[in-house]
Amino acid sequence: MSDTVNATPGADAVLDIAVIGAGPAGLTAGLYAARAGMDVAVFERTAPGGQLAQTDQLENYPGFPEGTEGFALAYSMKQQADRFGVKNFSEDVTAVDFAADPKILTTPFGEHRARAVIVATGARPRKLGIPEEEALAGRGVSYCATCDGNFFRGKTVAVVGGGNTAAADALYLARICEKVYLIHRRDQLRATAVYHQRLADLHNVEFVWNSTVTSLSANEMGALAAATVRDKVTGEERVLEVSGLFVAVGTLPNTEFLQGALDVDEAGYILTDENGATSAAGVWAAGDVRRKALRQVVTAVSDGAVCAEQAAEQKMPADLFFLLNEETLRAVAQCLTELFVFLFQDHEAVKVQ
Ligand code: NAP
Repeated sequence: MSDTVNATPGADAVLDIAVIGAGPAGLTAGLYAARAGMDVAVFERTAPGGQLAQTDQLENYPGFPEGTEGFALAYSMKQQADRFGVKNFSEDVTAVDFAADPKILTTPFGEHRARAVIVATGARPRKLGIPEEEALAGRGVSYCATCDGNFFRGKTVAVVGGGNTAAADALYLARICEKVYLIHRRDQLRATAVYHQRLADLHNVEFVWNSTVTSLSANEMGALAAATVRDKVTGEERVLEVSGLFVAVGTLPNTEFLQGALDVDEAGYILTDENGATSAAGVWAAGDVRRKALRQVVTAVSDGAVCAEQAAEQKMPADLFFLLNEETLRAVAQCLTELFVFLFQDHEAVKVQ
């Protein structure tokens, strides 16, 4: 999924719509905006696709009765957006000025201006917050099972969490690893019911209920060797010998770059109305980055479509006003001048007679 550019447009260049983030929400916003005739660019700091591109199998996206691979679906979304002329700027938006008119996005390559902005920057994995976690990240501790699972083929690993991500990760890893511990701090999963029986049926998945990871230890090579878990009910500690620990304990919104430009909730998710409108006029938020009940690909693409439609609608009156000021007024003035000249000539002709 390349085809991205870094662009420092001229000072006068103003996009109709700037979309920040090229996950499912951002790519769909781009697609809908481009099809509505907008000059739209999608900004992405890494690779397009967002969390979807790191998802192994997606079984709940309509239209794929056998499921589909996340990366393949993300790639198709990108191609579809490209087909309708969405511009791709491979740039990290580090600051915004939503009070300016037009709005300003700052990236390491310069400033971009846009009449409307759709924030679709998604969310990132939450960390466990235990002391050894950071040092062992990339040395056994991972936040993406589909990215890193293959490194642990045939080995014993653990997944931490009880949501859909943890359940899907455990299923995926059970296919390639010798054994998978699923460590959850409660006595039942939060994940959708469909996962429960599938996991219970697997001989190489062991649930570690009511437990939290308290510490990690490394081998002489500096790689993860074991995770110590404590049973919250009995207080007992147990050492699990694992070479991989996949942390799937939820997400945090990617909203730091906004630096207070939009209203957010206590966890940092952007507050919007049902159409994605934020606290700043002309700025919408779509997908996992906004406060919402269900964070799924299907709700992200829906958000993207609604926001793009709203942003495109907002631009129409401005265009009409622009036309009225510039071209239409000039044409009207020309007509009036000709009319006055015509009337004056007639008047003079009448006087001469
Ligand atoms: P999530 O639903 O928020 O689940 C996070 C899990 O981690 C919860 O079980 C939570 O425990 C646990 N947890 C949180 N902090 C913890 C900590 N410090 N230590 C140990 N455990 C901790 O997050 P998610 O699974 O990443 O899912 C995020 C969103 O994406 C959800 O809306 C989900 O439905 C969606 N998603 C959907 C699919 C799919 O449908 N195929 C796949 C992946 C994700 P508690 O239960 O005690 O709160």
